[in-house]
Amino acid sequence: MNGKVALVTGGSRGIGRNIAGKLADEGFHVAITYNSNEELAMEVVSELEKSGVKAACYRADISVKDQVDNLFKEIEKDLGTVDILVNNAGITKDNLLIRMSEDDWDSVMDVNLKGAFLTTKAVARGMMKKRYGKIINISSVVGVMGNPGQGNYSASKAGLIGFTKSMARELASRGIRVNAIAPGFISTDMTNGLKDEVKEAMLSNIPLGYFAEPDEVSNLVAFLASEKSDYITGQVIQIDGGMNI
Ligand code: NAP
Repeated sequence: MNGKVALVTGGSRGIGRNIAGKLADEGFHVAITYNSNEELAMEVVSELEKSGVKAACYRADISVKDQVDNLFKEIEKDLGTVDILVNNAGITKDNLLIRMSEDDWDSVMDVNLKGAFLTTKAVARGMMKKRYGKIINISSVVGVMGNPGQGNYSASKAGLIGFTKSMARELASRGIRVNAIAPGFISTDMTNGLKDEVKEAMLSNIPLGYFAEPDEVSNLVAFLASEKSDYITGQVIQIDGGMNI
């Protein structure tokens, strides 16, 4: 155990669940959030505890300020102040512009971008006091490249990249490192539901010729969470099989 506390938002499923497992293996105490599926989140906590670390899950809609503020109070009581924040929770509501509703725009921006603003604001004070902290934002390759049918999602993920760079500059003097990861296609619930022809079209644009598993992202998160990456801040690291060279 390294005694540090990590929070992974959206840690109940997919990439977040895998990141939480990897950080527990690395000796971090781990808090995860979920939005709807408590049973799954409890299952993840039991798995994490097998690594010998403390683990806890919290229901919080990260797009709602009061819930986020309360989340950090609860984590502090149970595990201590957060040293590593992984802004992973995210949603898609894909549609072509002419069919995209205002609600679909707003909800994706609220969870994917405003959520990261709220969690970062809530965690920053404690990190500034300690003069150390790591914030890792899970963006997306479509935040760099754009994608038809994902105007809301790609805008939120591009926004997250701008936010990452601004926070890296703003918080560096307090010892806080802020980086973003931009995954390509990772096999999770989010992508498994796509039509076969969409998956085939995506595959044809990946030079390495295969989709990644969540492990690829978790390994990089573990590196960015560790002291081995202390001289890296403000970067956007793509894990996309060469999709955006
Ligand atoms: P996923 O399997 O759909 O899981 C999403 C997670 O986010 C779940 O734990 C969910 O909790 C949580 N969540 C959703 N809305 C929330 C809210 N309002 N407040 C708090 N938590 C909320 O997604 P994933 O594929 O693992 O993606 C994880 C991150 O990677 C996302 O930010 C996504 O945009 C990004 N990403 C994914 C891919 C990919 O190919 N999969 C590629 C690039 C980037 P509940 O289960 O409780 O609802």
